[in-house]
Amino acid sequence: MTIQLDTEVIIVGAGLTGATLACGLAAHDIATVVIDRIPPADGISPTFDGRASAIAQSSRIALDGIGLWPLVKEKTEAIREIRVSDGPSLMFLHYDHADIGDEPLGYMIENRDMRAGLVQLTEKTAGLTIAAPAEIVAMNRDDGAASVTLKDGRTITGHLIVAADGRGSATRQAAGIDVTGWGYNQNAIVATIDHTESHQGIAHERFLTSGPFAILPLKGGHQSSLVWTERSTLADSFMALDDDAFLNEISERVGGFLGKLALVGPRFQHPLGLQVAKSYASTRLALVGDAAHGIHPIAGQGLNLGLRDAAALIDILVEAKRYGLDLAHSAGLEKYQRWRRADNLLMAGMTDVLNRLFSNDVRPLKAMLDVGLATVNSLPPLKKTFMRHAMGQVGDLPKLMRGESPG
Ligand SMILES: Cc1cc2nc3c(=O)[nH]c(=O)nc-3n(C[C@H](O)[C@H](O)[C@H](O)COP(=O)(O)OP(=O)(O)OC[C@H]3O[C@@H](n4cnc5c(N)ncnc54)[C@H](O)[C@@H]3O)c2cc1C
Repeated sequence: MTIQLDTEVIIVGAGLTGATLACGLAAHDIATVVIDRIPPADGISPTFDGRASAIAQSSRIALDGIGLWPLVKEKTEAIREIRVSDGPSLMFLHYDHADIGDEPLGYMIENRDMRAGLVQLTEKTAGLTIAAPAEIVAMNRDDGAASVTLKDGRTITGHLIVAADGRGSATRQAAGIDVTGWGYNQNAIVATIDHTESHQGIAHERFLTSGPFAILPLKGGHQSSLVWTERSTLADSFMALDDDAFLNEISERVGGFLGKLALVGPRFQHPLGLQVAKSYASTRLALVGDAAHGIHPIAGQGLNLGLRDAAALIDILVEAKRYGLDLAHSAGLEKYQRWRRADNLLMAGMTDVLNRLFSNDVRPLKAMLDVGLATVNSLPPLKKTFMRHAMGQVGDLPKLMRGESPG
């Protein structure tokens, strides 16, 4: 049976970026259908994704603007301080939110809690239709319209398709858009730990020879999310350790300041690499989130960039609708691509350089970097600039991220 569904925007991928974009568009009266190959409930399971995300202040403001933050606030932990150190070196960089105001530097939230909030929000947002699980069997984009045909016989027609289907984006590939990038020969091992001492809202990043090791504060004071960057050749052997041996490896890297540690839930690993789409737009198509750019998690910014893409596209589409334009008009898509590609390339480059500089064992370089960290730490204006970058307050921010309504 063929069922025809008319909408304005069709989003492929209901991950953190796609679902946020869908809620934001529908909240501003742009009819949206979001398609995912997995059922929404799968993304909430503890075995699906063990990661937690650092949400920058500007992203928090945008999530507040679309109504998500009130649904997830109780599940978040404020990041009040960040301590960066180079292995055992005593020279470190210390960011304290109190140096620049009352607001925390950011917030930690477990990805599954954010997904649960998004599922709740998508269900109650008028003008938003979820098609999941669903398999796309055909996609058409031409000067007149865009359409997606699903295996169950539904055809969805709209003005614009948004690819939000992650790093391996089939939508991007079908459009013939190439990516450029490289692997880091590093995997991120992710685990959650319980600890007897409070984390006090402090995020730690330690630069070890194998890569950065992050200890990130979770809700309640006595749980943290670990992102342990390890050489790919060794990651599988660490993953294969039994719980006690794995915990010993973690304890060695965390040190004693969190007291007694215990593992919570399963461990996960993610191969790391840099990936940048050569174009963010084509006829009736825009790329957002990891479908457009995948970066190293060293600065906890990948999702924040995706949320900026979403907020920028909301600005452009809301304006097009207000002026009665085709939502996929070429000037709008070109503006989106110029705006977001430059910002994302800058962050991709910064994270790439940071990872290369710190993930090594070259002593003279290490010594220079330690002096660099200590220098930044002793220069308040420079330090404040870095803090504002981490808070996502630098650059050409979309309206939602400035606390303004795009409508
Ligand atoms: C270890 C680690 C830690 C990180 N920490 C942070 C952090 O602290 N802060 C931060 O900002 N970022 C962080 N990131 C980056 C962040 O996790 C990603 O940028 C983000 O999850 C990307 O979300 P997305 O929605 O764009 O893509 P994805 O999460 O990949 O979602 C894609 C969606 O598309 C769906 N899909 C795929 N193919 C199809 C198809 N053919 N048809 C239909 N649906 C499809 C999938 O089911 C999925 O739901 C981290 C990354 C890693 C690896």
